[in-house]
Amino acid sequence: MKILDKRQFYINGRWVDPVKADDLEVINPSNEQVCAVISLGDQADTDAAVAAANAAFPDWSSTSKDKRIALVEKILAIYSERVDEMAHAISTEMGAPIDLASTAQAGSGMSHIRNFLDAAKSFEFERKLGDHAPNDRIIYEPVGVCGLITPWNWPMNQVTLKVIPALLTGCTMVLKPSEIAPLSSMLFTEFVDQAGVPAGVFNLVNGDGLGVGTQLSLHPDVDMISFTGSTRAGIAISKNAADTLKRVHLELGGKGANIIFADADENAVRRGALHCFNNTGQSCNAPTRMLVQREIYEQAVEQAKLAAENSSVGPASEYGRHIGPLVSEMQFNKVQDLIQKGIDEGARLVAGGTGRPDGFDQGYYVKPTVFADVNNGMTIAREEIFGPVLSIIPFETEADAVRIANDSVYGLTNYVQSKDDARRTRLARKLRSGMVEMNGQSRGAGSPFGGMKASGNGREGGVWGLEEFLEVKAVSGWAEEAA
Ligand code: NAD
Repeated sequence: MKILDKRQFYINGRWVDPVKADDLEVINPSNEQVCAVISLGDQADTDAAVAAANAAFPDWSSTSKDKRIALVEKILAIYSERVDEMAHAISTEMGAPIDLASTAQAGSGMSHIRNFLDAAKSFEFERKLGDHAPNDRIIYEPVGVCGLITPWNWPMNQVTLKVIPALLTGCTMVLKPSEIAPLSSMLFTEFVDQAGVPAGVFNLVNGDGLGVGTQLSLHPDVDMISFTGSTRAGIAISKNAADTLKRVHLELGGKGANIIFADADENAVRRGALHCFNNTGQSCNAPTRMLVQREIYEQAVEQAKLAAENSSVGPASEYGRHIGPLVSEMQFNKVQDLIQKGIDEGARLVAGGTGRPDGFDQGYYVKPTVFADVNNGMTIAREEIFGPVLSIIPFETEADAVRIANDSVYGLTNYVQSKDDARRTRLARKLRSGMVEMNGQSRGAGSPFGGMKASGNGREGGVWGLEEFLEVKAVSGWAEEAA
């Protein structure tokens, strides 16, 4: 297979060579073959990109909302035309089966762009404080130069959740995508370039966390870091950004509880298990702790076992609803270790287990795995596994369920399955997480995505996603006639 040469960066409106050669191979996780070579940026590359973003800021931040919307509409049109290329890039770099890559993965990028356009159209960048203060104005202004650092698991979802609101609010930016899955971001950069975004407004520098990621976090000329990734890296970024008092927006890991009551609908367990295995379990909002009420516990364990056994595994290039490989050897080893820990700590393995599924000796494939009789103190209930591994925990009462669900350092998404409306409402209020999804209903367009506690502090999407990139300025003595 042809190895793509993707060594260049996009700085100040041009593709440029890195200042110093520092190659990194991008591995296709379905076959462990090298599919591309990128460069890891140096301080000088980061400095050049930040300088370009700074130089572009005065003009870009003064453009009208309409002009910025028109440019993002162009990006959307190009994205829609080239969405198949995008799906293939994602599928190759991170292993999402092509159907999932086309619909959920590449598709999420387009729907975020659409939702942000809607939010921006009705967003008032200048507002009255209220009738009591007719000469006061509240002005929403762009934060400035933003460093955008993204992970590999939902690459376009995360890139569009940052780049698009940054563009629409008048910020300029340097994107550093995951070095493990950089190809989709490089393709997206082609879309931005083709749309005619002015030089310096958007820049891309590839690199790893210790290199470009840290350089952006420390950089005195970067005003804000918007980060999605592990809690570990979120802490490092916050510390590095502290000396320059940057704003730091964090979307981190999760360990979602899916609380299934005895009165849940009959598909609840299967739906929960498949949701956990989706994207090979590599989703921060995956419902990985299934809390099941005692009355239906054994039956639920059987249903989850069946769901795992019926989930087939296969290469990302094949069409179908199977599960692809994990993203990397490191991730494969981590998931193997955690499955072994589950066994060692006494959880009951009912499906899957360690090792590759039958028929695979290459590629980072793992078996969809279900543990029953897990208690919330076990490592598999506490740590984010980021693989298709479900932990089932029994509970007796509603109060028990809330206590177990909230007993986690994370607080991203929790799930509730019950036909009792009053109970669902009570739980929605009591669960300590940024999102609560109930009875399999996904959140609506423009709903904010983000977490509490070790899951982060920011909200992405919709109006909230725009506000993350804005400063609020309060003005008195405003003369309406002169504005
Ligand atoms: P990661 O933290 O290792 O890497 C994410 C990005 O951060 C990459 O671009 C990486 O190069 C960079 N990075 C790593 N260390 C850094 C540092 N010290 N300073 C600056 N940048 C650094 O995470 P990952 O393995 O790519 O992604 C998986 C993690 O992302 C999971 O924990 C998952 O839950 C989380 N995630 C969260 C959300 C959310 O919105 N809450 C969404 C998707 C993924």
